[in-house]
Amino acid sequence: MISQNSNFIIIGPSGSGKGTQAEFISQNFGGQKHLVMGELLREIAGGETDLGKKIKKTINQGKWVEDKVVNQVIKETLEVIDKNKGVILDGYPRTVEQARYLDELFKRLDRTHPIVVNLIVLPKSVVYRLLNRKVCDKCGMLYHPPESLSETECKKCGGKLVRREDDTEEVIKKRLSEFHEKAKDVIEYYREKGKVVDIDGEPAISEVSSQIKKALEKI
Ligand code: AMP
Repeated sequence: MISQNSNFIIIGPSGSGKGTQAEFISQNFGGQKHLVMGELLREIAGGETDLGKKIKKTINQGKWVEDKVVNQVIKETLEVIDKNKGVILDGYPRTVEQARYLDELFKRLDRTHPIVVNLIVLPKSVVYRLLNRKVCDKCGMLYHPPESLSETECKKCGGKLVRREDDTEEVIKKRLSEFHEKAKDVIEYYREKGKVVDIDGEPAISEVSSQIKKALEKI
């Protein structure tokens, strides 16, 4: 049975709808806090520190940030959240090393074993979605096609909608192949340990949400 202290990991390539479905889970299953690793890293990358500059360079080359850096980011983030408030991790863990680290961290922080929601989307759909998505230059809200094709202003804060610097076809394809290479191992790791819920992420958002709802209600 899912409750407010249940923890989730949502897995899927960028553009698979992870963010949207994480919000859906939070709203319908207990208000868990949605933590997006890409956003946490971009926040650090926006600063003038050495670490910020290094992270920015790595992201813009389409490479992944080192495990030890992302592990440190998740540790500092989770240490200040009450263990009774569940979290939905989005974009973390992406490697088995990160998953192992997270296991230890969850144990130490006395958090419940995470439920993994695995969103399955075809590579060609991901490339189309990412080439056509936009982000608000003020608040960071993401807009996906079809909405992103016609909108130019953020409906939340009025900011300008722009393409993300790292959403070029070359970078997207690189991110995707790296994702598939490593995600298989992470999903396997969790299949051996416990709950993985496989969801077809191809249909419309509301259809994907209702598949998730049905699956989680059975847990
Ligand atoms: P995203 O917004 O999820 O596409 O993430 C943007 C970029 O942040 C990625 O291309 C990586 O460079 C970096 N990143 C995000 N999450 C991770 C992670 N778990 N491990 C390593 N790098 C990450």
